[in-house]
Amino acid sequence: MENTSPSFASKVITWFDTHAQAKAELGHTDQEKWIFPFPFALMSVSTVAVFFVGFSWVAFSVAVFLYGVRMFGITGVYHRYFSHKTYKTSRWFQFALALLGNSAAERGPLWWAAHHRHHHRFSDTREDTHSPSQKGFWDAHMLWWSRRKNVATRLDLVPDLAKYPELMFLDRFDSVVPLTMGASLAVLGMFLHRYFPALGTNGLQMFVWGFVVSTVVLFHGVATINSLSHVYGSRRFQTTDTSRNNWFLALITLGEGWHNNHHHYCNSTRQGFFWWEIDITFYGLKLLEKLGLVWDLKPVPQRLLRPLRTPANETVRPHEVVPEPAFAKTRIAGLAGLLPGLTSPLATQVPARGPDLPNS
Ligand SMILES: [Zn+2]
Ligand SMILES: [Zn+2]
Repeated sequence: MENTSPSFASKVITWFDTHAQAKAELGHTDQEKWIFPFPFALMSVSTVAVFFVGFSWVAFSVAVFLYGVRMFGITGVYHRYFSHKTYKTSRWFQFALALLGNSAAERGPLWWAAHHRHHHRFSDTREDTHSPSQKGFWDAHMLWWSRRKNVATRLDLVPDLAKYPELMFLDRFDSVVPLTMGASLAVLGMFLHRYFPALGTNGLQMFVWGFVVSTVVLFHGVATINSLSHVYGSRRFQTTDTSRNNWFLALITLGEGWHNNHHHYCNSTRQGFFWWEIDITFYGLKLLEKLGLVWDLKPVPQRLLRPLRTPANETVRPHEVVPEPAFAKTRIAGLAGLLPGLTSPLATQVPARGPDLPNS
């Protein structure tokens, strides 16, 4: 009888192929159920290894550096570029940016952008995938992505990204870049141990600090925007969600903590609308603009920088209003009074795109 069970090699390839994994998960009936995130759990537990591998300033500095640049990879690339298209770039630099974002080990660029666009459209409604007001803090912070229904990349929400095969590849095999980075750090540590012993590091120490600790702390830093930024802080704009501005979260996330600004107007590159709202990601993007690597950064409209009195028709961006039939009536009925131009065709429109496409 012919053996039809998959070979070891094909099992390994399938493990790396997150699109194949997602397809398998979609076959289960209970889509709300969590699947155990083994790699994430292993990484989290492995942070205790810092007590065994010891400390060195060089390993600690690498960890801090990789936290910073990879936070930029999430905020400046996955968020402000792939999710919202707030600036443009060339195709090769788009891929370089995608590699940087991918190194943060927060899945692929299409998966991230699709879930985030969904968040903006359904913020703090029961359709929202990560809303602390709907399902609680821990669900919004870290449990939502391990539900079966959220494993798949919603390609219907990112057709503008899915047309690039190189981005699709990264999205499918999204653990290759982080694992390569981890292995490279181990090799770097071995090199430093051999040729610069005075630095006091080694392969394992560099791997634990530079990859494990940095990645886990980075994950929780980013996750505060889904959890804490919808709970703690001030609300400059009366958005239809619970988003807040929080200076502390803005510092640790390089500018994402100006989340109420962002929910009110998500099309600008800048999220700290005023000079005192520190937005390090924006400064980094301005630097890349000066170097000619990115361009057409979208500004904050002048009308939002005046002393605050939010016009009613600024309350909800039309492209974010994509209600499900279940709550469409109440939400649209409420909006009808606010938005004179809102008609039923707009209410049923499902624009699965960012505001603009990049040059390619
Ligand atoms: Zn939000
Ligand atoms: Zn956003």
